[in-house]
Amino acid sequence: MSYFRPHLETMKGYVPGEQPHDGEFIKLNTNENPYPPSPLVIESLKQSLNPRYLGLYPPPLCDELREKVSEVYGYPPDWILIGNGSDELLNIVFRAFLGKNDRVVYPFPTYTLYRTLALFQEADYHEIPFNPDYTLPESIFTKSACMKVICNPNSPTGTFLPSSHIEKLLKSSSCPVVVDEAYVDFARENALPLLGQFDQLIILRTLSKSFSLAGMRIGVLFAHPNLVDGFLKLKDSYNVSWFSQKAAWAALQDIQHMKQNAEKIKHTRSVFSEAMLELGYVVLPSEANFVMVKRPGKNLERVYLQLKQRKILVRYFSEWPDSLRISMGTDANMETVIGNLREIEKETGGHV
Ligand code: PMP
Repeated sequence: MSYFRPHLETMKGYVPGEQPHDGEFIKLNTNENPYPPSPLVIESLKQSLNPRYLGLYPPPLCDELREKVSEVYGYPPDWILIGNGSDELLNIVFRAFLGKNDRVVYPFPTYTLYRTLALFQEADYHEIPFNPDYTLPESIFTKSACMKVICNPNSPTGTFLPSSHIEKLLKSSSCPVVVDEAYVDFARENALPLLGQFDQLIILRTLSKSFSLAGMRIGVLFAHPNLVDGFLKLKDSYNVSWFSQKAAWAALQDIQHMKQNAEKIKHTRSVFSEAMLELGYVVLPSEANFVMVKRPGKNLERVYLQLKQRKILVRYFSEWPDSLRISMGTDANMETVIGNLREIEKETGGHV
């Protein structure tokens, strides 16, 4: 006998990447940043170690942080909602727009949390395969839906859709369109300039990747104030801790630090992609801080396990067995990965 609602009983939960924290691994499985956050963040957290911030609830709307986001990104504070990671913001958006049997559409493969969130809502999720070149399939534009979601740059592929494609989707859709830009600081452009023109556009950002603050759990949502107002009803009252608010404020105060790290990672990505091509992998063109590599028709689970034995953790998804998603570490980390892959190739005579 189960106490759970029947659809929860049968559904699978989202499985996050493994999180060993003992420093034993070169950890390239959940797209964290290998470089530390701005020194201003550490300074601000030290100053926040104060009984006031432990004993009192934090500002429910993250007022100062919202002001800072507004100053940096150029939209007024009432266009901005801060979340406990962008996962919380996704959760809010899915709950806001999807009920039982409501249709949500997104291209596939993509961030598998979307499916989990749709299942929570008992929504009707349509996963439409990307075109072979990872552009949007025509039916994404034409299908009617209660919500459409685009992850851009996409995970796990790292591929990127230019803003003109997002604009075309917005013009052809009357429902809310969510653009999840978790990795956009590693890409050529972003959808923020479209926000003022389309009142159904919702843009999600995170400080987990480019700002090196995954542990602080800070997400940022941009949308028309009417939408933000509605989302506020769904949010936990005190969803972001004092410390996270302070850390995020300081990180945004030092945007140059983030940009420099993003540039280093983009350089590492291009060197690593070249090396993987030389090793015989198909390498998807990435505009994120990770690269998806493939051996079409092969199962790469053994390579994943052999790397793990050698204390290198990359992401293997059983749904896409011929691929591995590898986050960008430091240049030295990536040289170690390439060296180990070469050895594994030699040991297996190329029969991975
Ligand atoms: N969107 C995408 C595409 C992601 O890969 C992630 C990280 N797993 C998130 C959103 C959530 O990021 P966070 O909750 O750390 O802000």
